[in-house]
Amino acid sequence: MAAAIKELSNVPNSSQETLWRRVERILPTVTKPGRYVGGELNQVIKAWDSVRTHIALVFPDIYDLGQSNLGLMLLYDILNQREDIAAERAYSPWLDMESALRENDIPLYSLENKRALADFDILGISLPYETLYTNFLNILDLAHLPLRSANRDESHPLIIAGGQSVYNPEPVSPFVDAFVVGEGEEAIVDVVNTHQAWKTAGGSKQELLAALAKIPGVYVPSLYQMDFNADGTIAAVTPESPDLALPIVKRINAKLPPPLTRFLVPNVEVVQERVSVEIMRGCTRGCRFCHAGMVNRPIRERPLDEILTALKTGLDQTGYEEVSLLSLSSSDYSQIIPLINGLRELLQERQVNITLPSLRIESFTEDLMDELQSLTPGGGFTLAPEAGTERMRAIINKPISDEAFMDTVRSVFKHGWKTIKLYFMIGHPQETLEDVAAIAELCKAVLYEGRQIAGGRTRVHAGISTFIPKPHTPFQWVGFDSLESIQQKLDILHQGLHGAKVKMTWNDPEASLLESWLSRGDRRLSEVILKAWQNGARFDAWSDQFNMAHWRAAFTEVGLDPDFYSHRARGLDEILPWDHINAGVKKSFLKTDYQWSLQGKTRPDCRGGCYGCGILSAFNELRLVAPDGGWKCP
Ligand code: SF4
Repeated sequence: MAAAIKELSNVPNSSQETLWRRVERILPTVTKPGRYVGGELNQVIKAWDSVRTHIALVFPDIYDLGQSNLGLMLLYDILNQREDIAAERAYSPWLDMESALRENDIPLYSLENKRALADFDILGISLPYETLYTNFLNILDLAHLPLRSANRDESHPLIIAGGQSVYNPEPVSPFVDAFVVGEGEEAIVDVVNTHQAWKTAGGSKQELLAALAKIPGVYVPSLYQMDFNADGTIAAVTPESPDLALPIVKRINAKLPPPLTRFLVPNVEVVQERVSVEIMRGCTRGCRFCHAGMVNRPIRERPLDEILTALKTGLDQTGYEEVSLLSLSSSDYSQIIPLINGLRELLQERQVNITLPSLRIESFTEDLMDELQSLTPGGGFTLAPEAGTERMRAIINKPISDEAFMDTVRSVFKHGWKTIKLYFMIGHPQETLEDVAAIAELCKAVLYEGRQIAGGRTRVHAGISTFIPKPHTPFQWVGFDSLESIQQKLDILHQGLHGAKVKMTWNDPEASLLESWLSRGDRRLSEVILKAWQNGARFDAWSDQFNMAHWRAAFTEVGLDPDFYSHRARGLDEILPWDHINAGVKKSFLKTDYQWSLQGKTRPDCRGGCYGCGILSAFNELRLVAPDGGWKCP
């Protein structure tokens, strides 16, 4: 069998039929071959020669995770609605498939037409989190494409990237031709239109890049130079020509685009099999550690009837038995009670399961609890106090008193829930060991209340994550905790919860350290990413695959100090690697908010009164065309 495969791999590969025949030979040798064949319900296959633009949407993690990514499916749906565009998909092959592809010299291909990725006009790479960066490089390599933008010309696909992590695009900027910063639904169409006009005119790659740089929200890194001071900090970011935008303002939609209803239904088991509808985008609570809360402003709500219709249509078109509502803070949705009533009707009609994540402790009312109880009976209840003391909760701007928190907990148990999951964060520079010990005490207090009210079957689960100072947040200037200190804090929690029957799970501190490098890196960090990938780094988001040795060695080989990126506190006047990207919230606002955090001063939800964070001034014109009531800035 091996000899036959070898022989076939030597056949010149010029058509997609040949490529697919060769793939079929290796599929029986890998686990879950269904990941690599496509053919899902609702997939769109267009005759290759019938369209002008071929775009491959790429999620750099395995199919099981990427297949249900709502952002990618939305873009797939939007693009395929255009007759002149074929949008296809590709995901990271798992390790066995990667080896098989490499051994047989088969390039990575799309699931629809089974075409090599190099045959496409555009590759749109989704980068929702930083630990996908090495997988992204691996995909370019498996597609037989040069990794660096500078080494690709007009004959290669245009590589564009978007997603939450590209609010700091610099660490991967040498590998990407253009970034879409912010919301991609409208910007991607502009990118394709620009590409079509360029192709018709028959221009050079430089001309294409220059045209793309004119699209609002699009950042073409090769047109901007980054200079450094002797101490390693940034001296300046300079555009190549004066007509280039600086800063690049993120792209947003005045109104949320119609929700997706044609979900791709996989033939193999994947992580999420459900109809998901985003009920609201953005958050005004202002938690100071929360990247998503800061960069996704302003709040835009989807109308209630649109949500319910989309859920029903989605169920009809997929046969799924579960629906999920997405938002950063579902209980803040202004029509949450009518929404839950609508969901209850749906539940009675269709017997589906409902997940409603991200509920805020402060926005609970008895009414909401009553409604929720009938919707998700028997399930667990999740609350995220984040810190064990009122002092720390004021610092991170998630102010809730211990008393109010315990009142909510009691109410949860009284309404019949027996399992509570609590989320906490450790590692903030202002945190003391007493604050950490208080987390364990709070968990035990919750368990005690649960046993008093709900009896012996009460379960409490504490999920502990490590604080990572993220760009575009008020904590962007502070340092990441040392590994020794994080370990000491985890030990305190283990001791504090020993024998208490509270289940505790926690993130690997080294994985958080990697994220702290990648999320706040500058352009030079790209060399470290490249070296780490060459050293073997892949699937860094997977705890069983992540290997810190690859990264440590990469820093040494490149000659950069990892602590410069992680543990160092930044000066308030320092030019940060993402300052030329404007997420809508002004740096001066973040600075004031950071200074307030040092005084333990809180900033209430801005829907009650605007603080002038910058969103309204940055998007004043869009606000004027936003539909009534959808945009929640007062
Ligand atoms: S502009 Fe005002 S209301 Fe809108 S998000 Fe910023 S602070 Fe809140």
